[in-house]
Amino acid sequence: MKIEILRLNHRISRDKRVSSHVGLTARAFGASKLYYSGQKDSNMEESIKKIVDKFGGPFEIKYCDNEIKLIKEKKKEDFVIVHLTVYGKDFKEFKNKLDNNILIIVGGEKVEPEFYELSDYNLSVGNQPHSEIAALGIFLYDLFGCKTKFNDAKVEIIGMERGKLIKSLK
Ligand code: SAM
Repeated sequence: MKIEILRLNHRISRDKRVSSHVGLTARAFGASKLYYSGQKDSNMEESIKKIVDKFGGPFEIKYCDNEIKLIKEKKKEDFVIVHLTVYGKDFKEFKNKLDNNILIIVGGEKVEPEFYELSDYNLSVGNQPHSEIAALGIFLYDLFGCKTKFNDAKVEIIGMERGKLIKSLK
């Protein structure tokens, strides 16, 4: 089962940290790819690649200049398209339908109506407005939990009661 994310409408000045945190959240909870549209941002791509290089993957980040084409291609590849939106139905009611490859769409400031139309499911994580990072994190954690195995990591964090322990793996 492949989990991929499409983050819409990235704006370098306002979304630098938000979009990179969408990527880190996606990776930590089991997704293997982040597509993003809007403004291409090589600094954001680099910051994600650095984490993957240090803590392992697989995880890829890719710029997307045509979201509709991407969604249609993913549908042909048998991905289920899930759009996370405050206006959607409670995601918990639909969990048992999501056993295929999934492309999860998260928005930016404004999400155009065509994304609601093209998605197989428009799902909410509570019907209060919050953020794409929170929605994605809760959705992935609830469905798949934390991912524990990463390939080619250089270091691994060992959880402790106090202090910080980073184990070198290479
Ligand atoms: N006004 C925007 C719209 O047209 O949907 C929402 C902006 S919100 C800051 C950015 C993104 O966070 C949304 O596109 C959605 O993906 C996600 N989001 C925010 N609250 C959510 C919720 N309660 N459930 C699911 N996703 C949510």
